[in-house]
Amino acid sequence: MLPFRVVYHEDYDLHLGAHVFPSQKFRLIRDALVSEGVAGARDFLVPESAENVDVLRVHSDAWVNKLLHDKLTMTERMRLEIPSSPETVRAFWLAAGGSILAGQRALEDGFAANLTGGFHHAYADHGEGFCMLHDVAIAIRRLQADGAIRTAIVVDTDVHQGNGTAAIFSGDASVFSLSIHQENNYPLPKELSDLDIGLEDRTGDDEYLVRLEKGLVASLEKFQADIAFYVGGADPFLEDQLGGLAVTIDGLKARDRLVFEHLRKRGIPIAMTLAGGYARRVEDTVRIHVNAIRVAAEIARGESRSAPA
Ligand SMILES: [Zn+2]
Repeated sequence: MLPFRVVYHEDYDLHLGAHVFPSQKFRLIRDALVSEGVAGARDFLVPESAENVDVLRVHSDAWVNKLLHDKLTMTERMRLEIPSSPETVRAFWLAAGGSILAGQRALEDGFAANLTGGFHHAYADHGEGFCMLHDVAIAIRRLQADGAIRTAIVVDTDVHQGNGTAAIFSGDASVFSLSIHQENNYPLPKELSDLDIGLEDRTGDDEYLVRLEKGLVASLEKFQADIAFYVGGADPFLEDQLGGLAVTIDGLKARDRLVFEHLRKRGIPIAMTLAGGYARRVEDTVRIHVNAIRVAAEIARGESRSAPA
């Protein structure tokens, strides 16, 4: 049904119980894609957990060992802001494996989505803000190690700055980090991305889209990317509990279309991840991500229709 593959594992759920992070959203998005006829069973791929050799291209031995052997200090647990359990740790390893697979499929099919991931607050040696491992960085390093890509751009539209991404790829000319976010929000202080677009509180659709397009076009003009990882957070939404922007559901759909069209126009494969989304009604978060998949499918089909048979 879809012109690309969607990566999903039933153990993506972080098992957080009553928490502002609705980690049941991964399953809800998958179910909505199927029940609305957007995707069929054959469109889904089941990832393997990332191998430790892949994780260790990004993260320190010490951090990986602490996660695997449940040895986090109290300070480390507090920075994560989520409880750590074997199921949660496994879900992050699966998310990283899923982003590797989405990257590989994007190189083949032009587009792929991982229905989790975008854990952009994880650093090499610690986790924070609900993020234990940086799945996108792990995927980029794996694709580079395989010789499948040389360069990558991370386009991060989550309402919170991609501080882990900026820190991990700081000084690395092979990866360009673009983050458009609410300036006056977590994380404080911020890291330096290759391009940061810090927005005022309550920025709405029109200004959001203008600033994003300007920044994205400028980035793509100066940086040749072999792949784009899209960290497409749902939390710039005006009813988000952890966000302070005022972008509507239609505005977010226009955002995703804008990002996908500019990348596709330049022939850059796109691997999409979800990142944050804390709408008061979880169905709004689900709707925003389902819309992203619908928009990607429309664009991919439009291109294939115009191609010679
Ligand atoms: Zn966020």
